[in-house]
Amino acid sequence: MKNYKLDTLCVQAGYTPKTGESRIPSIAQSTTFFYGDTQAMADCFDLKSADYFYSRLANPTVAAFEGKVAALEGGVAAIGCSSGMSATTLAVLTVAGAGDNVVCSQAVYGGTYNLFTVTLPKLGIACKLFDPDASAEEIEKLIDDKTKMVFVETVANPAICVIDFDKVATICKKHGVILAVDNTLATPALCRPKEFGANVILHSSSKYLDGHAAALGGVIVDLGNFNFKNNPRYAAFNEPDESYHGLVYADLPAAVFATKCRAQMIRDIGAIMSPQNAFLSYIGSDTLALRMEKHSSNAAKVAQYLKKHPKIEWVRHPSLADNKYHALAMKYMPNGQGGMMSFGIKGDVKTCAKFMESLKLITQETHVADVRSCVLHPASTTHRQLGKADLEKAGVPENLIRLSVGIENPDDIIADIEQALENI
Ligand SMILES: *Cc1c(COP(=O)(O)O)cnc(C)c1O
Repeated sequence: MKNYKLDTLCVQAGYTPKTGESRIPSIAQSTTFFYGDTQAMADCFDLKSADYFYSRLANPTVAAFEGKVAALEGGVAAIGCSSGMSATTLAVLTVAGAGDNVVCSQAVYGGTYNLFTVTLPKLGIACKLFDPDASAEEIEKLIDDKTKMVFVETVANPAICVIDFDKVATICKKHGVILAVDNTLATPALCRPKEFGANVILHSSSKYLDGHAAALGGVIVDLGNFNFKNNPRYAAFNEPDESYHGLVYADLPAAVFATKCRAQMIRDIGAIMSPQNAFLSYIGSDTLALRMEKHSSNAAKVAQYLKKHPKIEWVRHPSLADNKYHALAMKYMPNGQGGMMSFGIKGDVKTCAKFMESLKLITQETHVADVRSCVLHPASTTHRQLGKADLEKAGVPENLIRLSVGIENPDDIIADIEQALENI
């Protein structure tokens, strides 16, 4: 499937039926798989055979979705997880243990921020945060012998800043550190971080990949372009794994990262994607390329409209020529800048609440990035414990409205915002 273009891969990759088999992946709703002979089963346990034996380790429906996402990102292997958060957790634990650290952009998803700054430190894995707008020198200073991963988001949720891949990838290459990229909001339809130096991709497939708000899920993609062999930073990849008969992961011909992740982390922790969710995510992602075009063009239209509105103080979307991240967006995602945006209403928390309640088509939700437009007012929901000054510090002023633009007709989306603004 390597030579096909992305929209072709969306509908064809990951599953090819044999004669008489179902055209789309069937749901292999089974914990376990039948074996007639002992040796064939033993080969599964020794990783000599890639056949299915237990759904915590691998499942045919999940494999179809994994194969598709790997193809979309240009990777060599992928692992379907129970959520985006578990994907990130398992990816970090594949490389880091007590005493190690991860260098992470401070503009990341709230759940990821908590994982890195609260939960992983309890396991002895430290986190060093950096401002994604900081200079290369400042970011480079954070890397030491114990740094196992640099973590960024292509388009940060909810800050909507675009990462400067050249800046961070140069540092990672120089120091032989893995660059892990959460590509949830850009998706491979708009940006393929592999082309800009990424080594591992993370997805919350609960968002655009599924696209229909139907199934929670996460994916880890091994891009197969990192050299673990004899890299002292990754000693554990170069030493025999006694829990796998002395296997040395760095000696594997391909998918070194994904194999270690599956053999150790998925085996020991689980958090695998369910066959049902893999099925929904597989068929949902058939239309990814089409949807991302529409999300992007709709958001760009809404951004233009809001920019001219007298009741709007500011608008943040990378498609806007005066946006701080416009140049980076044009460089890394020129064909569309996605459906996520935010804007500030002239007024206070009460004005914002009135606006939110006046919307008729666009609904209030914690979710983002599915076919239906939705809004969130962080100051009165996710960030309601913070005062005005702390809100400013967190980069979410009290008048900030987060809007995930869906694929409805843009005239209807704009008309709904228009009537709600008239009401305040
Ligand atoms: C939602 C989200 C996550 C977490 O994914 P879940 O599937 O909700 O666990 C991680 N990263 C980004 C950018 C997200 O938007």
